[in-house]
Amino acid sequence: MELKVRTNKKCEVIDITPQVSEVVRSADIGEGMCCVFVPHATAAVVINENDDMQIGEDLLDALERIVPEGVWRHDKVDSNGAAHLKSAMLGPSETIPVLNGRLALGTWQSVIFVELDGPRDRKVIVTVK
Ligand code: ZN
Repeated sequence: MELKVRTNKKCEVIDITPQVSEVVRSADIGEGMCCVFVPHATAAVVINENDDMQIGEDLLDALERIVPEGVWRHDKVDSNGAAHLKSAMLGPSETIPVLNGRLALGTWQSVIFVELDGPRDRKVIVTVK
């Protein structure tokens, strides 16, 4: 299943847990694995705190401190070297166990899409086996 995510800012976090949970529900399996994969080189997916979404803003700020803009070789190609590096650090996928037909996320965990070079129309591929 392919989800569509429209981002609105250069860097942004979007909670996609409801959409991923819906894919898992419709797969109708009791136990298995759910893979959430972002087919982009300047975006990522992470699992983290959902109750206080300031954590998402903090994540973006932390990445900004670690990876400054405009100082990379790739910036001579298309000016988004920092976004590629941040994406590589976070990674393109997460795998979540499915138990009793539902994502076995912890109480405070959500599946979060991370835009690092938006705004863009993005895809998220979700497979359940
Ligand atoms: Zn690039």
